[in-house]
Amino acid sequence: MSFPAIHLYDTRRRAVVPFEPLVPGHVGIYTCGPTVYAPQTLGNMRSQFTPDLLRRVLIASGLAVTFVTNITDVGHLTSDADDGDDKMEKTAKAQGISAADVAAHWTEQWATDRRRLGMLEPDVRPAASEHIAEQIAMVQELEAQGRTYVIDDGVYFDVATFPAYADFAGLDLDELEATGRVDNSDKRHPADFALWKLSPAGSTRLQEWDSPWGVGFPGWHIECSAMATKYLGDRFDIHTGGVDHIRVHHTNEVAQSECSLGVHPWVSVWVHTEFLDLKGRKISKSAGDVLLVDTLVDEGIEPLAFRYFLLQAHYRQQQEFTFDGVRAAGTALRRLVHHAVVARDAVDGATDGDDPARTTPFREAFWGFLADDLNSPRALSVASTVARSTELTDADRWSLLADFDRALGFGLADATDPEQSGDESADPRIAALLAERTAARAAKDWAEADRIRDVLAAEGLEVVDTPDGPQARRR
Ligand code: AMP
Ligand code: ZN
Repeated sequence: MSFPAIHLYDTRRRAVVPFEPLVPGHVGIYTCGPTVYAPQTLGNMRSQFTPDLLRRVLIASGLAVTFVTNITDVGHLTSDADDGDDKMEKTAKAQGISAADVAAHWTEQWATDRRRLGMLEPDVRPAASEHIAEQIAMVQELEAQGRTYVIDDGVYFDVATFPAYADFAGLDLDELEATGRVDNSDKRHPADFALWKLSPAGSTRLQEWDSPWGVGFPGWHIECSAMATKYLGDRFDIHTGGVDHIRVHHTNEVAQSECSLGVHPWVSVWVHTEFLDLKGRKISKSAGDVLLVDTLVDEGIEPLAFRYFLLQAHYRQQQEFTFDGVRAAGTALRRLVHHAVVARDAVDGATDGDDPARTTPFREAFWGFLADDLNSPRALSVASTVARSTELTDADRWSLLADFDRALGFGLADATDPEQSGDESADPRIAALLAERTAARAAKDWAEADRIRDVLAAEGLEVVDTPDGPQARRR
């Protein structure tokens, strides 16, 4: 089968366009990474899942991919309007620890969560605080071009010097001027944005550096432009992020990059992921109201069930989070893994024993859907048809599912059969512990429920909530 031509929706052109790498055979992707002052929510993880899927599809098509995602460990303010505190600074001060410790902790958590969701490791993971010189150099170039001005609190980009500023997101600058963003009034236009913020006179920040304009720290937008350019070149193929970044963060990235680098378009295709709707999904745990990968685990849901759940929606559609939805995805995932493992073991893992007359149509359908702007829901349904089909042989089935797993990312080659999963719930002592846990949860005694889970975990058992009630499975 020759791989179908890849088409992607480009935010800038507002159309699905054929994807052509700038350098034949190679693709560079930049994804706005986490601001490491807090854990990444399941919503954040959705916006990082899309580039993982995209990267896998590009690799499957035969392209070499360089995947860069940054760590924002300085400069991201609590407001998009260049005022408010730096999120890192605020958190570190509140906790009485260094910004570097805050960053190290949440970077590690994020990396672990990525792995638990089956995401490939980034090729480059640059931290903003380690690329100050590159950011200053970019601001200096903009200054040399006469596109900046300095006010009390920092150096600003003057959007009037870049007439195409509004094009990327289709902004109405006059309206923006009339209504104003909640704003720093010394700016010439409400859309002007900070390139370098100065530390307030007489005060010392936890994170600050010397610069030609005085001691301070970089603006948030400049970090992505500087790091993307450093690792992917003056122009590159694909930039991704959440839809909330289109109007400000990515608009500003385009303005400062196209001006300082003298290129257009800076990025060939912009891929933006719609939100995972977490509204009204306050979780039951007293611990808080943020939904994390850990929350799923606490609820007895395996993280890969969430990957399956994400695949069930197209990335440009809002998706509503519900625990029932993720649990149902977990059930579907276990069926898929079961069929895959049975077929795999029947053919001793051989992927080449299929009959192409039977398998090629499925292969073409699966990759055809993904090549069509990442239509993962339809690709997933091809995979589940293959898993259940009675007309395919084990060799056909494993050949197809092993191939599809390059995009699905469920780790089928090493998976164990979840339906032969070492369920030890029938052991009377274990059954009693599970019943106590169920009672504790019914009484909202989360500490007790967690304690019992930990007791089971210490014995190598994982509690998994299934439609038939909780099970304790040997890991
Ligand atoms: P932050 O750590 O706040 O910079 O956010 C990291 C990424 O998560 C950004 O690309 C956001 O657009 C994205 N994001 C935040 N909330 C959600 C959500 N509920 N669904 C999808 N993406 C989100
Ligand atoms: Zn960014």
